[in-house]
Amino acid sequence: MNLYCYLVMPQYQIDQLEIVYFDMSNVKRVKVEVMDKRKLTDWLVPRLKKLKEALEGGKLPERIGNAGVWQCDGYCPFTKMCWPKGILKRG
Ligand code: SF4
Repeated sequence: MNLYCYLVMPQYQIDQLEIVYFDMSNVKRVKVEVMDKRKLTDWLVPRLKKLKEALEGGKLPERIGNAGVWQCDGYCPFTKMCWPKGILKRG
């Protein structure tokens, strides 16, 4: 969301972001923090480095930690299907 926000920043003033998720059974609205340019860059650069490394050298990045599965934990309706034994907790 913040990357899309960044792309249109020169043309639009955006002060709030929201994801509206819907399927055949439900609609969910989730507010998303608007990152300033510095915070977005700090978040993005390490991820781009890993992606570049993986694309150029074929080396897979290390597995994500708990922060990478927040969507699965109470937000997404498919949690029981994807994580039948519970969400894997990694350090
Ligand atoms: S529960 Fe499954 S579908 Fe939902 S966000 Fe996690 S991995 Fe994706």
